[in-house]
Amino acid sequence: MNTLLATHGLTGGYGDFQALFGVDLEVREGEVVALIGANGAGKSTLLKTVTGLLPARADQVTWRGEPIGGARAERIVGLGLALVPEGRRLFSSLSVEENLLLGAQANRTRARKWHLDSVYALFPILKEKRRQPSTSLSGGQQQMVAIGRALMSNPRLLMCDELSLGLAPIVVREIYDALPALVEDGMSVLIVEQDVQLARRVSQRFYCLQEGRVSLSGASASASDADIANAYFGVA
Ligand code: ATP
Repeated sequence: MNTLLATHGLTGGYGDFQALFGVDLEVREGEVVALIGANGAGKSTLLKTVTGLLPARADQVTWRGEPIGGARAERIVGLGLALVPEGRRLFSSLSVEENLLLGAQANRTRARKWHLDSVYALFPILKEKRRQPSTSLSGGQQQMVAIGRALMSNPRLLMCDELSLGLAPIVVREIYDALPALVEDGMSVLIVEQDVQLARRVSQRFYCLQEGRVSLSGASASASDADIANAYFGVA
């Protein structure tokens, strides 16, 4: 499997505050990879750094072997990386459909596989509500809009930050049920997920961050609960 995204000793943070200390991670074609770790471990910081929202050294992030660290966010989206940010960040004054169409604007250069019809086929409820303001939707439906908006940029790699936050378990399941169809379609997915069991169930490989460092990584099915608890909380 070819490597799409890789980080090489990635450092990063906010001004003088360092949050990542030399993270090595890779996502290959057709994989679902989970990034787990306690609050404040650096998961969101990693996603923001590889998508150009926070600064990075060029050679610390590669896309298909090419250095992209520190590139502008627009260029990174154009290469095929899309982020579903924590908290969804929808435009409240816009309708569901207008929010989705904003995603299409992010990439005008690569092949258009995803469009309104394919997003509505994935999440049929969004078609019913397409003219409504995004704020009138439930939390789960808003999360679907956020995913749909990212898909509209036709990503090769979809990165999702805390999809399940604040949602009822049944809704979380409905959202995660959409992932296999994306992967069958050739997409790779990197998820940040607080629910470790869920993260392991939907991914092939995982990385656990602890205080900005990878404390454990490997195949999601074979790691023991004790090893993960240790890597997560740093307790023996
Ligand atoms: P969470 O589940 O809480 O989102 P996380 O693993 O995603 O956790 P990050 O949000 O990446 O963690 O935070 C890593 C560190 O960076 C934490 O110490 C956090 O307090 C700090 N941090 C996060 N955002 C900022 C910011 N905008 N300015 C300064 N420090 C920040």
